[in-house]
Amino acid sequence: MSDLRLADNLSLVHSRIAAAAQRSGRQAADVKLVAVTKYVPIGTVRSLVALGCRDLGESRPQALWDKAASLAGEEIQWHLIGHLQRNKVERTLPLVSLVHSCDSLRLLRAIDSAAAQLKRIVPVLIEVNVSQDETKHGFSPEEVESQLESIAKLPHIAVRGLMCMASREGDLDQARREFAQLREIRERLRVAAPPSITLDELSMGMSGDYEVAIEEGATIVRVGSALFEGIETQA
Ligand SMILES: *Cc1c(COP(=O)(O)O)cnc(C)c1O
Repeated sequence: MSDLRLADNLSLVHSRIAAAAQRSGRQAADVKLVAVTKYVPIGTVRSLVALGCRDLGESRPQALWDKAASLAGEEIQWHLIGHLQRNKVERTLPLVSLVHSCDSLRLLRAIDSAAAQLKRIVPVLIEVNVSQDETKHGFSPEEVESQLESIAKLPHIAVRGLMCMASREGDLDQARREFAQLREIRERLRVAAPPSITLDELSMGMSGDYEVAIEEGATIVRVGSALFEGIETQA
């Protein structure tokens, strides 16, 4: 039963993504859905994978390790979307395809040196604290601008874009302004960015605001609870 509900929820999210993409003059395929699995046990994650979700996100490194181990052998792209402590970098990097939540130069340096050990170049997004909320992680808009050159010098890091979270849940006008700000920061940075940095990706939008985020240019949305409505989510 709950697999049917999950399939319904997923197809609703996909159709809303497609409609929002169209409103912003794009195709559904231009927006990637990262299914955020932090609320659900591994059985539900397996059902999502069986329904075709290949991009999965976790906000806690430990939970990502555990779920990635349980699903070893499946073709899954894991996304780390929450704060990464430097002592967890080494164990996390081999498992992830994109780190969304790079929130300090210190962390980026730690990722760079661990990536060098692995002889890998790690794709990352820079998390920007657009609302400058002190309780949130991320570079301030000024910092990201002033530190871009230092970031560009890290040879095992490939910056692909920016990530943000809206400051207040439920305030869609505010969220829209913040998403637009992230896009504008991206446009400014693009002018100054060295060739090693590409800024094509904007990871923004969650269950409550992903349609607004897509209208403002999101290329990746991170959706959790909307997928699991009506489903037992004890983990
Ligand atoms: C939990 C989480 C999400 C998903 O949130 P929902 O509102 O459940 O869709 C997205 N991004 C980050 C960084 C998260 O921690």
